[in-house]
Amino acid sequence: MFQISDDERKIAYFSMEIAMESDIPTYSGGLGVLAGDTLRSAADLEIPLVAITLCYDSGYFFQEVVQGRQIEREVQWEFSSEFERLPNIIELDIQDKKFKVGGWLYKMQGETGFEIPIILLDSNIEGNEHWQKKFTHILYDATPFQRVVQEMILGMGGVKMLQSLGLHNIQTHHMNEGHAAFGIFELLKKYKNDLEEVKKRCIFTTHTPVPAGHDHFNHDLIRDVFRDRLPENYKELGGEYDLNMSLLALNGSRYCNGVAQKHAVVSRKMFPGYEIDGITNGIHNRFWVNPYLQHVLDDRIPGWTMNYQLLQNVWDIGNYELWQTHQRAKKKLMDYEKSHSWVLLDENKLTIGFARRITEYKRPTLIFDQVERLGKICKKRVQFIFAGKSHPRDEQGKGYIKQISDMSDYLYDSYDIGVVFLGAYDMDLAKLLVSGVDVWLNNPRRYMEASGTSGMKATLNGVLNFSVLDGWWIEGYQKDPMAGWAIGCGPEDPKATQHPDSWDASDLYTKLEREIIPLYYNNRDGWSERMKHAIRLSSYFNTHRMVEEYALRGWQLTPQTRWKTNLDY
Ligand SMILES: *Cc1c(COP(=O)(O)O)cnc(C)c1O
Repeated sequence: MFQISDDERKIAYFSMEIAMESDIPTYSGGLGVLAGDTLRSAADLEIPLVAITLCYDSGYFFQEVVQGRQIEREVQWEFSSEFERLPNIIELDIQDKKFKVGGWLYKMQGETGFEIPIILLDSNIEGNEHWQKKFTHILYDATPFQRVVQEMILGMGGVKMLQSLGLHNIQTHHMNEGHAAFGIFELLKKYKNDLEEVKKRCIFTTHTPVPAGHDHFNHDLIRDVFRDRLPENYKELGGEYDLNMSLLALNGSRYCNGVAQKHAVVSRKMFPGYEIDGITNGIHNRFWVNPYLQHVLDDRIPGWTMNYQLLQNVWDIGNYELWQTHQRAKKKLMDYEKSHSWVLLDENKLTIGFARRITEYKRPTLIFDQVERLGKICKKRVQFIFAGKSHPRDEQGKGYIKQISDMSDYLYDSYDIGVVFLGAYDMDLAKLLVSGVDVWLNNPRRYMEASGTSGMKATLNGVLNFSVLDGWWIEGYQKDPMAGWAIGCGPEDPKATQHPDSWDASDLYTKLEREIIPLYYNNRDGWSERMKHAIRLSSYFNTHRMVEEYALRGWQLTPQTRWKTNLDY
C-alpha cells in the first residue's frame, strides 16, 4: 500500500472546498479560501496535519458577465497535471450498491519546505457505473441525493482513506463546516458505537449564521441512501425531523467553534446548550500581499513571513513610499480593468471596491439606495469596482449584478462616475482588487456575516475598510478605529437589526462626504498614516495566529509536538 511518508500526522482537516491556487477550481468562495490559507499557515508552522477534500472534475464554474448578466461556463481543467494519483482505492455503500473512491495528492509547501498533504477524493474510477462516476463532478450544484453522497464521500470516505494510507495516529478529525459530519458515522463503526470515544477524536468549526448555510437532509432520503447502515441513535445525533449536519457535528465533537467572537455568540443562540468557542478567522499574509508591498516589507521587516507580529513595525515605512507602493498596485488593477471593461477609470481618483459572493444578505446594491445623493457626493471624484459570483441558482443574486450594471450606465451619464462590474471572480482577481482600490466597502445585513476575510486582505495591503460593524470588523475596528470606518450603529445597539437599510445608507453617504473624500484629497499624509494603522492590524488578523489558536484549544497539540511557535498574542 502507498503511504504518505510522514505517518506522524495527528490532525485530519476535512473541508468540502479548499482553494489551493487561484486556477485550481476546487473552491467557490470564502470557506475554501479560508481552508487554503489555514493549510498555508499550517505548512509554514510545521503542524502535523493532513487535509481531505473532493476532486471536482468540473470545479465550480467560470463566470462571465455580459451586459449585466452572469453566464456560467463549465470549467475545463486537467487536474492530472496538478495532482498525483494515489493507488489506494476504498469502497463505500450507497443504497444496495457499492462504489469505489480513489484519491489524488497535492502537496502544499511552507516557508521551511515542510509539506501538508492534501488528499482529493473522487469517484471517477474505473469499475464504477456512469452515474457513480459523476458524484464528484461539480461543487455545490447537486440534487439533495448527490449532495448526501458527496458528503458521504468526504466524511466516511475520508476516514476510510486515511486508514488505507496508513495514517493511524490521527488524534483529531477537524470538520471544517458540517459537510464532513458523516465521518462520525464511520468512526462510530470503528469504535463500536461508543460516542464518547468518537467525540474525543473530533472537532467542528461552524462558518455561517445563515440558516440556509446549514445542510438539512430529509430522513427518507437518508434511509434510502444508508439503508441498514445507520447507527441506531442517528436521530438523537442529527435531529428528529430531519438530519441537520451541523447538529450531528456538534453532537459528535469534543470542541466546537465559530469564526469570530460575535459569530460564536450568535452560534450559541442558534444551538442552545452547546459550548461554542470563538476563534477569529485570518488570512495568509504572504499569499495575499501585493508584490510591491511584499518587496518593501521583505526589505524593511525581515522575517515577517514567519512571524506576522513583526508587522507592528510598519511605522518604519515612510508615508511617501507607502503611497507610491500603493499607486503601483492601483495601476496594476487599472490596467487589468482597462483590458476587461469599457468604463474609463482614473488612477488618481478615490476608488472604492466591493467584491464577495453576490447574494441578498451582503446587500451589494445598498450604496445605490439614494442614487442622486450618491451622485452629487461622488461626482467626478469617486469611482467604484464591483466583482463577485452569484450561485447559479440564486436568481435574486444575479439580479443585483444586473442592477449594478444599470447603475453604471446611469451614474456615468449623469454624474461622470465610473462604476464597473468585473466578471471572472477568483483569487487572482480578488488579490488585484484588495490591493488596488483605496477603500474596501462591506455592508452585510448585521449578524449574517460570520467573519468575512476579504476585508482582512484589504487591510494587509493598506486599503482602508469602510464596513458595517459585523463579523471580524467588530474586532478590527475596536482594536484600531484608525484602520478604517464603521457604517451605521454599533453591534450592541438595540436598533442594530431594526433599522431599515436606508439608515445604514445615510450614514454611509455622510461619512463618505465628510470624512473619507476630504481625507483622501486634502491630506495625503493623514491617509498614509491610516494605511499603516490598517497594515498593523494584519499582525493579528492572519492565519498564523488563527492556526496557533486551533493548535492550543482545538487540536490540543502539546508543546512537544513539532510546531514552530513564535507568537505571543
Ligand atoms: C477572500 C475571498 C472570498 C471571501 O470574501 P468575504 O469577504 O469573506 O465574503 C470569496 N471569494 C474569493 C475569491 C476570495 O478571495
